[in-house]
Amino acid sequence: MGPVQRFNPDLSDSGLARTRAHEAAHASQCRRDGAIWHFVHGVFPSQRLAAEAEAYCAEANFGVANGGQARLEYARIQDELREMPWFRRLSSDVLNDSLASQCPTIAVAAAREEADWQARWHRAGSP
Ligand SMILES: [Zn+2]
Repeated sequence: MGPVQRFNPDLSDSGLARTRAHEAAHASQCRRDGAIWHFVHGVFPSQRLAAEAEAYCAEANFGVANGGQARLEYARIQDELREMPWFRRLSSDVLNDSLASQCPTIAVAAAREEADWQARWHRAGSP
């Protein structure tokens, strides 16, 4: 029993590459944990959240490796995680904490870029 991978044929090339990065993360979780354990993980929202946060992190890593900004990649995966039906009942804090713990490198880079961006904006706005 291996991981099931489906790709929407309408996805653009970069969307497809992201999806592949995401699914590759799930496939390696499956190999790491075993298919049964991976299935059991999926049953509990907290385990599911950790697995999805890790897979979305793989997407963000892919985006950053291909010239994306960590700040924008991280914001995007935060939104994507929030949009998942499984996690509707979880607070943004819970989602963000999980993402930060699964994706510390991108989270730190995103925070640093955000601070730089804010600093630039403030300089530009001051007389
Ligand atoms: Zn996923």
